[in-house]
Amino acid sequence: MVTVRFVGSGDSFGSGGRFQTCILVDGPRSRVAIDFGASSLVALAQQGIEPGSIDAILLTHLHGDHCGGVPFLLIDAMLAGRRTRPLTIAGPRDLQRRMGEIREALFPGSHVMAPRFPLEWIELPAATPRAVLDCVVTAHPARHTAETNPTALRVEIGGTVIAYTGDTEWTDDVARAARGADLLIAECYFYSKPVKWHLNYPAIAAHRDTCGARRVILTHMSNEMLAHADEVPEECAHDGLVVTIS
Ligand SMILES: [Zn+2]
Ligand SMILES: [Zn+2]
Repeated sequence: MVTVRFVGSGDSFGSGGRFQTCILVDGPRSRVAIDFGASSLVALAQQGIEPGSIDAILLTHLHGDHCGGVPFLLIDAMLAGRRTRPLTIAGPRDLQRRMGEIREALFPGSHVMAPRFPLEWIELPAATPRAVLDCVVTAHPARHTAETNPTALRVEIGGTVIAYTGDTEWTDDVARAARGADLLIAECYFYSKPVKWHLNYPAIAAHRDTCGARRVILTHMSNEMLAHADEVPEECAHDGLVVTIS
């Protein structure tokens, strides 16, 4: 059995008072965070979860609401957190260099700090399964701001498949990531407003059945989408929502 907790279910900009994306997955042997937005340490603390318990972070793309919490986690782990547990961070092309730049922008001078815990960076190859601890992760290309090296993730863990769109329009690659998944976590930025480089509800409704995912949970909702969340048949995430899949 695998447990999925929506630590943060919000969009970039605080809609609905929600935290930015952070999806915590507990498998049989490891605890994995899928995306880790800038607000994630606050969200974890509010939900009583120790950041030092996370074994791996999987990142879809390099926007701050999906990766901006990593520098905070790393610096906390090196200082007050006194982390000893190994940490693996996996994500898109150029991950380590770009996260180094983001960390230095947020905490100038922090490049002189070195972790005392084993820290491994994995740049996920495109559309090729890659082992990350006891998960197998496949990063499919996504259609989103190109400079973020966007991907949609398919994560095999504990005999289940969790697919997460990240931020993207619907494409054949996203459908591949979602195909037959036990759980598809889909961003649903807007209810009816057309939006470039994101999913809105009509796009999800048009594709959810053909992709064959067994369960769909919507997340990353704007105020416009949140106003309609009770009207759609799909489950909608909220901060602190926990679901189990098997
Ligand atoms: Zn986003
Ligand atoms: Zn984005």
